This record gives sequence, C-alpha cells and structure tokens, in this order.
Amino acid sequence: MTMLQETAEKALQHGKQFIPQGKVADYIPELGKVDPNQLGLCLLTTDKEKICCGDVDHRFTMQSVSKTATLAIALQELGFDEVFSHVMMEPSGDAFNSILKLDLASNRPYNPLLNAGAIEVISLLSPTSSFDELLSYIRVLCMDTDIVLDEDVYQSEYLTGNRNRAIGYLLKSKGVLQGDVLKTVDLYFKMCSLSVNARSLAGFGLILANGGIDPYSGRRILDGWVCRTVKTLMLTCGMYDGSGEFAVRVGIPAKSGVGGGIMASADNRMGIGVFGPSLDDKGNSISGIQALEYLSHELNLHIFESQR
Ligand code: GLN
Repeated sequence: MTMLQETAEKALQHGKQFIPQGKVADYIPELGKVDPNQLGLCLLTTDKEKICCGDVDHRFTMQSVSKTATLAIALQELGFDEVFSHVMMEPSGDAFNSILKLDLASNRPYNPLLNAGAIEVISLLSPTSSFDELLSYIRVLCMDTDIVLDEDVYQSEYLTGNRNRAIGYLLKSKGVLQGDVLKTVDLYFKMCSLSVNARSLAGFGLILANGGIDPYSGRRILDGWVCRTVKTLMLTCGMYDGSGEFAVRVGIPAKSGVGGGIMASADNRMGIGVFGPSLDDKGNSISGIQALEYLSHELNLHIFESQR
C-alpha cells in the first residue's frame, strides 16, 4: 500500500465517524432513498496515481457540482465578459436556494454556484447547447463516458422544483434571464440529475488542478484562465454558506452537491472526488468535509500552507 493510499484510508475512517451527525437530503424525495452510511474517496494525482477507497463505484446525482461544470463550459464557450455581465462573483452567505438577495439587493445573481446563478448561466448556454451536447462535454470534463441522466431523480426534481421555477421567473422579471423560464429550469434539473461517482468527480477536479489538461491524453480540455476562475469561485462560494469555514479549515477549492458529492481540486497536485450522502444543515456532505480536512492536513493541501 502506498503512503497516499494509507492516508486516504485513514481519511475515510475519520470521515465515517461523522455520518450519524448528518442526514440525507429529502426535499427531493428520490434523494431520501439513499443509504446514508456510505462514504467513498477517490484521489487522482497530476502524476497519474489513482487511489480509491470506500464506496467509489456507487452512482449518485451530481446536483450542485454540475454548476461548476456549466460555469466552466459557459466561460470556455462564451467568454469571461459575457458570463460576468449576467452574474456576479460575490459570495452571498445565504443558502443555495435563497431568493432574498436576488430580490432585495441586486438584479444579477450573486455568483454562478448558487441556484439563481446556475440557472442564469444555463440560460446563456441553452440557445447554442442542447442537453446532449452539455452531457458530452461533462463526460469529457469528468473523464467518464458512463455518465447518464438519472430519470427517477430528474422526475423527482421536476415535480418538486417550484422554488427553482420561482427563481427563474424572478430572474425573468428583472430582465436578466433571456429565453423561456421553464425550458431553462428544466435543463438545470437535468444537469443536477446526471449520475456520477466519486471517480468522475476526482477526474473533473484533476483537470481543474492540472490547468485544463487531461494528464492521460495530454489534451487541453479547458483554458488555464477558465480553471483559475472556476477554482477561485469554488474557494469563495463552492460550499454555500459554509464556504468561509471550509476555506479556513480545509483550504482546497471544492464544490458540493446535495446528492452527497464533493469535487475538490488541489492545485498542481490532485483532483479529489467524495461521495458521502449524509449532509450537514447547509447541504454539504458531513463526512466528506471531515475526510477532506484530514487529507488537507496530512498532505499539506491547504492553498495557503506556507512551504517554509
Ligand atoms: N437540484 C438541487 C436544487 O436545485 C441542487 C441543490 C444542491 O445540490 N445544493 O435544489
């Protein structure tokens, strides 16, 4: 067993202790059916080491981790100015599905990693990108050709997604969302319902950590500035209203989803994919955060760790 494998196994055991303190998301009924006792970790390093432990093969839905993917695609395809003329870059300090600041304090969504911002970004992509095209792009970003739409979760989101429709209509009333609200929100539900595993999220984290180049094929998938922009927003906004504490304690750009996934990207070192469906009260994987904090300390992954 390599040193990295041993550290990952210990991080997994450490994280598991916290599972009983959280609970699975059930506001999307289909997500409530998942066994909360699972935890999987996958580490893919820039020098091509692959470490997997725990429940790494279990498929779950990407949920809000998809916001990072649609942001990367929009930046790459539409450019920096177009994207950020429609959405800001500020942490909101509010819950992921909050409507408050959008209604009271601003016309543009606070950032692209909140529901409002992600719905806005998807409205920018939808005139030129179909669901199938976005799916193909995400398969490349995650280095996983097996990603498909989880129909049951999609139906469940569709039936219970009225708050997201409300966000869409609020954006439309403010004149920021172009196009059809229901079609845009439907594409958002589909992005959230793509089924991935911890390995796929590690693949995405690896491409971001490696400046946009897939180290296996040598192929450039994203421009360096796109990776830099996405990772900065992950650090400041990726864990919702838990982003500040996560940045202090863990210090790795990361994005969570209520399906239990966390995609983390330790610059020049590795991508880390986590699956731990037991969530804290902010909707972040409770055991996943603990496992990442352990890894960050043991492997010196904190972005502001001084090398001297
Ligand atoms: N589909 C979920 C929603 O819109 C995604 C939220 C999340 O993962 N935080 O409510």
